[in-house]
Amino acid sequence: MMLATRSLGLVGFTALMVLASEFVPRMAAFSTDRLIHAGVAAGFLLVALVLGLGKTYLPNQFWGWIPALCALYLGSWVPDWDLIVGIGFHRNPLSHSVLPLLVLAWATGFQSQLVFALGLGLASHLLWDMVFFGNLTWISGRSADMAWLGLNLLLTLVAGAILGRPRRVEVR
Ligand SMILES: [Zn+2]
Repeated sequence: MMLATRSLGLVGFTALMVLASEFVPRMAAFSTDRLIHAGVAAGFLLVALVLGLGKTYLPNQFWGWIPALCALYLGSWVPDWDLIVGIGFHRNPLSHSVLPLLVLAWATGFQSQLVFALGLGLASHLLWDMVFFGNLTWISGRSADMAWLGLNLLLTLVAGAILGRPRRVEVR
């Protein structure tokens, strides 16, 4: 029951943010940049499936895929919400780190299949920002930016795999 509520909540939250992006300046759910990030996230998902991680970390029922895909999409989007604060905050080291995963994982009650998908999406975002225009605020120098993004990319994948590990359901 708890599981279903959290999943529904995540789907609702994603839909709400997509709607809100129509009204919030710079949030752009449907920009080219956004579509590219979502595409890279889909690539990460494919790699995870090819590596056989699906059995452990991804839904085994059709309906489970809707919240999992929302989680993947959110993960790939959430770092750029720093744009809402202002363009001067864009590519903030805090939003471009493992931190959003920890917050979202907590918000979804550490539900395994959601946490892993969130991590994949976030990691794909960090990788793409390394490939293109990886200029972070606060941190100066390209190599320091790369080190920050690379380190957090690794942390995100590890945290996604650890926090997203399925717990055995207790039988009462
Ligand atoms: Zn970004």
